[in-house]
Amino acid sequence: MIVVMCGPGGVGKGTVVARLIAEDPHLWLSRSWTTREQRPGESDDAYTYVTREQFETRIAEGGFLEHAEFLGNLYGTPWPEPGDDRDIVLEIDVQGAAQVLERAPDALFILLEPPSAEVQAERLRGRGDPPEQAERRIAVAQAELAEGRRLGAICIINDDLDRTVDRCRALIAEARAAALG
Ligand code: 5GP
Repeated sequence: MIVVMCGPGGVGKGTVVARLIAEDPHLWLSRSWTTREQRPGESDDAYTYVTREQFETRIAEGGFLEHAEFLGNLYGTPWPEPGDDRDIVLEIDVQGAAQVLERAPDALFILLEPPSAEVQAERLRGRGDPPEQAERRIAVAQAELAEGRRLGAICIINDDLDRTVDRCRALIAEARAAALG
């Protein structure tokens, strides 16, 4: 099963996904490729950081399940190889989600929404992006939410981390049960 986790920057996707992965050994987190620069303080394994040329070579080789350009940088999911039967978690943008849903219509698609635009803007400004990048991310957030809803995502307002994680866990359990028939 594939779990697609979407939501605009600053909504807390990374934190929710990290909790889900830490608590459920049957989940496997895909590490994306990106041409974006590593942020100050961002862990070395948050992404595989590559040049645009390396990324484009991999596109040409058909090496991505999905890929998209987001605010001038390329992001992509290499074809997943968990090496066992774990469920795959993708933390990607809505353009990527649309591509995954075309290939895997049964994927569980969760959209995290911020409790308010103010909270989200504060988080984005506080996390080390250049101010101009942060402002661009704030500007695209509403469009991302609208597109995620249009694609039929299950929406969760992330106003309480524990509750959000519980809700995601319940959705994953339901989807697993449904997959078993
Ligand atoms: P950030 O630069 O904040 O790490 O990521 C920007 C956006 O790209 C976020 O919405 C993030 O979820 C998304 N993203 C991260 N990895 C991928 C990926 O492999 N594919 C796609 N389509 N989006 C990704």
